[in-house]
Amino acid sequence: MLTTLQLKTIISEMTLEEKTGMLHGDGIFETKGVKRLGIPDLIMSDGPCGVRKEFIRGTWNTREWNDDYVTYLPANSALAATWNPVKAYEFGQVLGAESRSRGKDIILAPGINLMRTPLCGRNFEYMSEDPVLSGVIGSQVVKGIQENDVAACVKHFAVNNQETNRMTVDAIVDRRTLEELYLPAFKETLIEADAYSVMGAYNKLNGDHCCESEFLLNHILRETWDYQGVAVSDWGGVHSTKKAALAGLDIEMNVTTDFNRYFFADPLIDAVEKGDISMAVIDDKILRILSLMNRLNMLDGERKKGTRNTAAHQNTALKIAEESIVLLENKDNFLPIDPKKYTSILVVGDNAIRTHANGGGSAEIKALYEHTPYAGISMYLGGGTKLSFVAGYKADKDCTYDHQRDFREEALRAANSHDLVIFIGGLNHDYDLEGQDRANIELPYAQNELIETIASVNSNIVMVNVSGSAVDLTTMKKHAKALIQTWYNGLEGGNAIANVLFGNVNPSGKMPFTMGKKLEDYSAHSVGEFPGNQTVSYLEGLFIGYRHFDTHAIEPLYAFGHGLSYTTFSYKCLSVNKNDQINISFTVKNTGNTAGKEVVQLYIQHLDSVEKRPSKELVKFNKFYLDKGAEKVVHMVLDIKQLMHYDSEINEWLFTPGNFKFMVGTSSSDIRLEKTIFIDN
Ligand code: BGC
Repeated sequence: MLTTLQLKTIISEMTLEEKTGMLHGDGIFETKGVKRLGIPDLIMSDGPCGVRKEFIRGTWNTREWNDDYVTYLPANSALAATWNPVKAYEFGQVLGAESRSRGKDIILAPGINLMRTPLCGRNFEYMSEDPVLSGVIGSQVVKGIQENDVAACVKHFAVNNQETNRMTVDAIVDRRTLEELYLPAFKETLIEADAYSVMGAYNKLNGDHCCESEFLLNHILRETWDYQGVAVSDWGGVHSTKKAALAGLDIEMNVTTDFNRYFFADPLIDAVEKGDISMAVIDDKILRILSLMNRLNMLDGERKKGTRNTAAHQNTALKIAEESIVLLENKDNFLPIDPKKYTSILVVGDNAIRTHANGGGSAEIKALYEHTPYAGISMYLGGGTKLSFVAGYKADKDCTYDHQRDFREEALRAANSHDLVIFIGGLNHDYDLEGQDRANIELPYAQNELIETIASVNSNIVMVNVSGSAVDLTTMKKHAKALIQTWYNGLEGGNAIANVLFGNVNPSGKMPFTMGKKLEDYSAHSVGEFPGNQTVSYLEGLFIGYRHFDTHAIEPLYAFGHGLSYTTFSYKCLSVNKNDQINISFTVKNTGNTAGKEVVQLYIQHLDSVEKRPSKELVKFNKFYLDKGAEKVVHMVLDIKQLMHYDSEINEWLFTPGNFKFMVGTSSSDIRLEKTIFIDN
């Protein structure tokens, strides 16, 4: 490792042209190094589900290589549904090792923006509707990545919550909402987990584009949080030279190939030569970039080499996928399926046979392989049970309701002649897609009509919804003996589903967002502020997701944090004590017939707050395994800071004494224990 003094000496030897070469894209995914001083190019790559295919430098043409296939990891929404920080860390390790083995320095992941609306096309790349869950999971991903001498690039800073007008829309968000809701997961990943880089968002925040926002970059990131890492723009997110440079952005990236014309290329040289921007501002940026390279052992020392497509990586992807699957409904313990009970099983639905790796926008990757749900089920059954497949619907946006007829009729006949139907539907990357939002939360392709048709002749239906975001599952729920939520779940996603359906794995995923009954139940839509036009005002403030549903007593279809198991857990003996910190403990017992994992969730409510606060806010969670009959005392420690609110009159975090309710639950709507204590300081 070089010392800061050595880095500064290198900077003193650089010309202005050499410096600016490091501050802007010299290819779609790389900046230029300075060979004569031993500074290599900085190589970046998407993305959150694995390392993206290789492009020919300076172009969007793919290399058509045969060795850029990688481990396709579960999408971030799946990872968050595990509620398991250990799995998030392992996920990061795989992503980091594969990035390194592909020669990358920065991997453009994880995506941690909150899900303000179920319609956001990129929700599948994001984690949840809650800052604590997104912050904890995101942080572990960052740590895992960076152990491999690769920098994480946390994105998209900040309030990048919709794709409609994503380059221009101005999100109007009040300070308290930013501080309490939209910024904490960034602080956690950038400061606590020490992510080496951050990507500025496309959108504007309160009038300024995020990549040139004095408030976001200089004030919050640098001055308030003392962030020392590198701020990279989203690709095409910069709109000026001087403003962006002075606001604290370090590297400008773009999607166009006129690299010398980028704002941080020739125009930056001109601005420095004219005296509009001082050399000290440029040198600060270079120092941050060199420090990042130094931490990755790019300037001297031994650098890790990484590995990819190992059996261990595939196994990690499998375990994450298994833990991400959420059992939403299980009437009369219908699952797990005992294949011996059925002579014939019918699988229906396009998502049973569809692969998803190569879609979604910049999160697309070339998967080494991808086992579909149908492949997983058929490999599990291994020919022992009669297994058939019909599509049931055509996954074609232009296929009108009438033209789905033929498919429905085929499904009707098949459902009539099989003992058990497994319906695998939901969305795909024509809907969960960068650059566009969904129009509604309905299941597309007339799937509800298909479900009604099948249910008219067969009542043994297990429903599986595949999506990265909330959809209206009312019809699925109505006709399901059991209902499962799964995700764009990586190359082992199909095996993971089979393992859950047939009981090899006891499900332990929990919803990372609220499944509402109708679109108007979500706050952004109830206040009429989505997608907006040139501006979108976050009038709902702190009240998104369960914070809104709960506070306003709106019953969701499935609550945030909900997820069943093949076993049951009981909770008892909650104690809450305040010393220097707040110590919470309670006992959880596995009272069912099989081993399993439980996610315990601690929510708080400030009962005497003069400020408007949600009736429940997640502050801690913990996931653990319990053998059948085993019990465990769970300890949680809270800092008084976690009970504070942000006072936007004086721009400070404040604690207001009063009664606080501590609620321990197995979901946000299933609180098992609660206790109120007065906390005075
Ligand atoms: C996306 C980023 C991505 C970048 C590079 C942008 O359009 O918003 O998330 O990392 O492209 O592909």
